[in-house]
Amino acid sequence: MWETRSKFLRVRCRDCGNEQVLFDRAASTVTCLVCNATIAEPTGGKADIKAEVLEVLS
Ligand SMILES: [Zn+2]
Repeated sequence: MWETRSKFLRVRCRDCGNEQVLFDRAASTVTCLVCNATIAEPTGGKADIKAEVLEVLS
């Protein structure tokens, strides 16, 4: 029932292919640890994910 329940996502950067884990309700912009591309932007709720989501971790 809790669609908005927070999760961790494993994502792959579209620019360099680096994989990292981020929180889907990130409160600040998340950048790639390798190339510094923006991976997620905060929206006040669920973050806007700019990278390819590989897996949702529970
Ligand atoms: Zn990258």
